[in-house]
Amino acid sequence: MNSTEKSTTVHWVDRYASEIAATGKPAVVSSGISPSGEIHVGNMREVLTADAVYRGLLERGHPARFNYVADNFDPLRKVYPFLEPAVYDKYVGCPLSEIPCPCGEHGSYSEHFLEPFLAALNELGVEVEVERADQMYKSGRMTPWILKALEGRERIAAILKELTGKQVADDWSPFTPLCRSCGRTNASRVTGFSATDETVFYSCECGDSGDVPFAGGGKLVWRIDWPARWCMLGVTVEPFGKDHSTRGGSYDTGKRIIAEVFDGEAPFPIPYEWIRLKGKGDMSSSRGNVLSINRMLEVVPPEVLRYLVIRERPHKTIGFDPGLPLLQLVDEFDDNTQKRRDARAVELSRAGGFEPVGVPFKHLVVVGQAVRFDVDKMVETLRRNGFPELARDALDQRIPYAKRWLESFAPEDVKFSVQETLPEAAASLDETQRRFLGRLGTRLVDGMEGEQVHQAIYETAEEFAGTKPGDLFQAIYLSLLGKPRGPRAGWFIALLGPLFCKRRFEEAAGGPT
Ligand SMILES: [Zn+2]
Ligand SMILES: [Zn+2]
Repeated sequence: MNSTEKSTTVHWVDRYASEIAATGKPAVVSSGISPSGEIHVGNMREVLTADAVYRGLLERGHPARFNYVADNFDPLRKVYPFLEPAVYDKYVGCPLSEIPCPCGEHGSYSEHFLEPFLAALNELGVEVEVERADQMYKSGRMTPWILKALEGRERIAAILKELTGKQVADDWSPFTPLCRSCGRTNASRVTGFSATDETVFYSCECGDSGDVPFAGGGKLVWRIDWPARWCMLGVTVEPFGKDHSTRGGSYDTGKRIIAEVFDGEAPFPIPYEWIRLKGKGDMSSSRGNVLSINRMLEVVPPEVLRYLVIRERPHKTIGFDPGLPLLQLVDEFDDNTQKRRDARAVELSRAGGFEPVGVPFKHLVVVGQAVRFDVDKMVETLRRNGFPELARDALDQRIPYAKRWLESFAPEDVKFSVQETLPEAAASLDETQRRFLGRLGTRLVDGMEGEQVHQAIYETAEEFAGTKPGDLFQAIYLSLLGKPRGPRAGWFIALLGPLFCKRRFEEAAGGPT
C-alpha cells in the first residue's frame, strides 16, 4: 500500500465505529478475560481493540460505555506449572475468586492476577468500568437470566445440538452449582430448581447434596453465561478471539440463545486473530508461553504497545518480536517521516504523558552503552552529535526503556561495552591492521563529527587497497570494544571522542606512527 492509498483508506477503527454509530443506539462495548494466570501481551489485543473502537465512537460524539468483565467466577481448570501442587490440587474446580492467592498478598487467586493487569490498563490509558463475574452472580444481577436458562433448558439443548452437532447428556444443565461442601462447580449436577425460592437442587460427586441460591450459588456454563451477560450489561459491541468465532462456536450459539431464550440481541461482533510471539507461537498462559504485559511495559512506552495492536486490522495475526523489531516499532511510532507509520493508529494510541524524543530508539541504546547510561553524558553526547535541540524531559522519560530493553531483549550483537583500556583481543591484530589504526589515529582531531570521521576512515582505507575493508573495521572494533563488530564506525568514534579513539588506536598500533 503506498502512502496516497493509505491516506484515503478508512482506518479499521473508524469503519467499525461508523457502522456501530449508524445503528443509532447508545453503545456498550465489552471485553473480558479469565484471570487464571499471568495476563500477557496476547490478552491485550482484546481490550485494546475494544478501547480503540470505544474511542472512535466517543470521537464521533456517539454515546458509549466500556466495561471489562473479569471472569473470576470460572473454576481453576488445573494445577498450572507455576502453582504448588500440594497447595492447589484441592482447588481444581473451585471458582478463582474463592481460592487463596499464590503470594499471600492479594484477596484471592483471581485478584493476584487481576490487580497488576488493571494497573497495566491504567498505564495504557484504558478507562473502563470493571465488572467482576463473582459479584455479578453474588449480587443477584444474573438471577433473571439464570431462571430463564433453567426454564429454557430444552430450547438451549436443541440450539446446541443444531449448531454444534453435539447432543447434551440427559442430566445436563445450563447451570453449574457451587457445592456447599467441596466448593467446586465442576463436580455436581442439577437435580431440580425452584423458581419461587430461586434455588437450585444438586448432588455432588463428593457425596453432598442440597440446594444453593441462584445468586452466588454457582454459575451458568460459558455458552449460556456469555449471552446472559450481554443482556445483563446491555452489551452492543464485543471483540472476541477467533476460537469463539468459528462455525458452531460460542458466538454462534450465543446469538441464537439470546434471541430465542433471553429475548435479546447479540452484540456487534469484532473477531480478532492472535498475537504470535516470534519463534514461540501463539501466546497462551496455560502453556506458560507468555510475555506479561507488566514486563513489556518496562521496556516499551504504553503508547507503543497500543500502537502495536491498533495499527493492524483485527483479522490479521500480529507477529510480535521483542528483539530488534521492537526498536523499529518504537521508531515507527515516534518518527512522522517514516513511510510505514499509521498516523491514525498513533492518534488512537495516546495514553498520557508521552513525548516524542526525536532520537531513534536504537541510537539511545548505542549512546547509552557508550557512556554507561550516565544521563548527563548521554544528553551532552547527543547534543554534540546531531541532536542539538534535544528535549531533556522527553529523554529522561525514554532512557530507562532503552536500558531495560537492552537488559531484557537485546540480541547479543547489539550489546557492547567500551573497554577502559586496550582489550586483550587487540593482541590478535595483524601487522596491516595495526598500521591502519596508526594511520587512522593521525587523521583524528578533536571536535570531528561523524561524517568527518567516516571520511577519514574512508581515506585511510584507500591507502590499504589490498586489504579487505572488513578486516580494517574489525581492527577498529577490537581495539575499542574487544569484539569484532559494533555500531557504525565513523559516527561511533565521534561519539566516543576522536581524541580518546586516537590514543587508543595509537596504543593498539604499538605507539605513535
Ligand atoms: Zn498474590
Ligand atoms: Zn461437592
